[in-house]
Amino acid sequence: MNISLSVVVQTPAHSALAGPLSYRSELPLAPGTLVRVPLGKRETLGIVWDAPVTPQTAVAWENLRSVAGVLQGIEPLNASWRSLVGFAASYYQRSLGEVALAALPPSLRELNPEQVVRRLKRGSTRPAHAHDAWVAGPPLTPQQSEALRRFGSERGPFLLFGATGSGKTEVYMRAVQDLLARDPSAQALVMVPEINLTPQLEARFLARFAGPHGEGAVVSMHSGMTPAQRLKSWLAAHQGTARIVLGTRMAVLASMPRLQLIVVDEEHDPSYKSQEGARYSARDLAVYRGRLESVAQGEDRVCRVLLGSATPSLESWHHSRDLREGGRYLRLSMPSRVGVATLPAVRLLDMNLQPRKTVLSPPLLEAVAQRIARGEQSMIFLNRRGYAPVLRCASCDWKSECPHCSAYRVFHKIDRTLRCHHCGLTERVPRACPQCGDLDIAPVGRGTERMEEHLGELLGSIRRPDGSPVRIARMDADSTRLKGSLEAQLAQVHAGEVDVLVGTQMIAKGHDFRHVTLVAAVNPDGALFSSDFRAPERLFALLMQAAGRSGRDAAHSEVSEMWIQTFHPQHPLFVALRRHDFAAFATQQLQERSQAGMPPYSFQALVRAEARSQEVAQGFLQAASAAARELGQAGHVTLYPPVPMSVQRVANIERAQMLVESPSRAALQRFLGQWHATLHALRQGPEGKGLIRWAVDVDPLTI
Ligand code: ADP
Ligand code: ZN
Ligand code: ZN
Repeated sequence: MNISLSVVVQTPAHSALAGPLSYRSELPLAPGTLVRVPLGKRETLGIVWDAPVTPQTAVAWENLRSVAGVLQGIEPLNASWRSLVGFAASYYQRSLGEVALAALPPSLRELNPEQVVRRLKRGSTRPAHAHDAWVAGPPLTPQQSEALRRFGSERGPFLLFGATGSGKTEVYMRAVQDLLARDPSAQALVMVPEINLTPQLEARFLARFAGPHGEGAVVSMHSGMTPAQRLKSWLAAHQGTARIVLGTRMAVLASMPRLQLIVVDEEHDPSYKSQEGARYSARDLAVYRGRLESVAQGEDRVCRVLLGSATPSLESWHHSRDLREGGRYLRLSMPSRVGVATLPAVRLLDMNLQPRKTVLSPPLLEAVAQRIARGEQSMIFLNRRGYAPVLRCASCDWKSECPHCSAYRVFHKIDRTLRCHHCGLTERVPRACPQCGDLDIAPVGRGTERMEEHLGELLGSIRRPDGSPVRIARMDADSTRLKGSLEAQLAQVHAGEVDVLVGTQMIAKGHDFRHVTLVAAVNPDGALFSSDFRAPERLFALLMQAAGRSGRDAAHSEVSEMWIQTFHPQHPLFVALRRHDFAAFATQQLQERSQAGMPPYSFQALVRAEARSQEVAQGFLQAASAAARELGQAGHVTLYPPVPMSVQRVANIERAQMLVESPSRAALQRFLGQWHATLHALRQGPEGKGLIRWAVDVDPLTI
């Protein structure tokens, strides 16, 4: 017998319209089966798909090539996984092949079937040891118990709105624990926004679950792993031996046949939205996946989704409004910290009252000095790395512009370089002005390196309780570039070997530092007046999270403080922050968004175009817009004029974008679906001449 099969293979981004390809096979193969198929001159990994052979893909029978082999021993990817991938591809306007194959570990694509079989044998898991202690976790707080009770008795999706230090992680672990105890084959997926946070989380989960379920029951999945590790984790999840998968956004597409719980920690975090390829939101896909898996597994089993945050995204906050007002998520609130720990007092320092050009105000310095003398830790938070964002010549006004980008190169004093943070161009700092030869070139503004230096000068004479000198450290993308250095630096802070830590947002996230009693944001005002309507939301979340690092240990919590140096102490954002009142902030923001018709009250997509010149990039978008109007595609959709992107040129490529907006998600999706073919055709025609690439970003996070 010889039959025809649809097979999905890795295809370039915009051959979306092609869909699966047809191959012949001697045997019928179930949809989801992994196969190797010939493609052009090479052989590649494919997935047998359900799609019927449509006229576009039908090729004359005699021209069909045959499936080359089946990856034996790997169960077919199940129907809900295939639906998830199909949905993601269509919603985010990418090809099925791109999304499906990207969701598999890279080495599965490269190994031949025999190698995979060998890996499968090797990957068999260690059984649980009876003597391992069952670490059951602490008795729950009343707020945790109540949250878990409602979690267990409803279907969700849930938004766990819990203050920093309220014990959200404990709620996640207990939810997982209950599930695994109840169902001997159930699986749970727990996602965190950053790779940096996975080792800490993995340690906590292993301590809790390795005893009862075996060490192989917990696996990680993130882009920092080696191909071999990724394959191993993926296989364990796919075969069901891994009961818990911990991972970053990529884990949302892991094959987990018995998935019954998805946790998305810090659900508001922008890292859940992919910034390249298929620009999917892992949080939104998690919610969709929960629904899919629930339908697939029938009435008696549901796949619950638990989103958690102290500062939820305004989208999730809006979705979790009262059910009677149209809410779709159930909000579970945990307003207080565990034990007697209280949230830090927020102090707004009016910089209008400080001498001009003050970087660190005297009262803040005094507060830090007191911490050092008491043996407590402080964190100084500044969202800019390097020594100074610009180097400038005093006599001719030369500035350290990047020759390839519309941006300045940042001065890094440590290795005496000028570095472009957009294209990576790195050069030694010139000794004299490259334009006029003057030696008087000086840094303008300040980044973390310069702040570290400045603090050293100002606090150098302060002694610690034992009389030893103060220790100041810096943590940012530069200081943690080497493998293992981040862990080492975190360990130092945890061990109390650092008195003052300077850093970027990296230090604000998640870490459970015990002796920090002061956190300061020295220059957060920029985001208040940004043209990006989400900037205040991000700033509020970041400051709340930074504040959350302070006073986590109840013994110190009554002296814990968050300092904010600002020229706008009356700004509603800071007023709400001082009261730890996320709800008030959210209400005010949502009101503005509703009046302006912005998300979550409208739905957006961006089309980006790149070319050697702005004219070509914008011209393509203009033509796409005109074509949509002519074809009458743009019902209920607003097409805005093309504009240059905020960093207009990167690595000599000009970038433009165009916003598309609709009050209806369905209308926007319908439009994008039709428009895709138009864009594709334009790309091939004269309007596409000189265009380097174009892409659609659905539900973009930065505009
Ligand atoms: P969150 O994720 O909400 O910021 P965590 O889950 O990290 O908070 O909890 C904060 C601290 O409180 C952690 O050190 C955790 O071990 C501890 N903790 C959590 N729940 C309890 C509890 N029920 N009893 C005692 N300590 C707890
Ligand atoms: Zn000069
Ligand atoms: Zn550059």
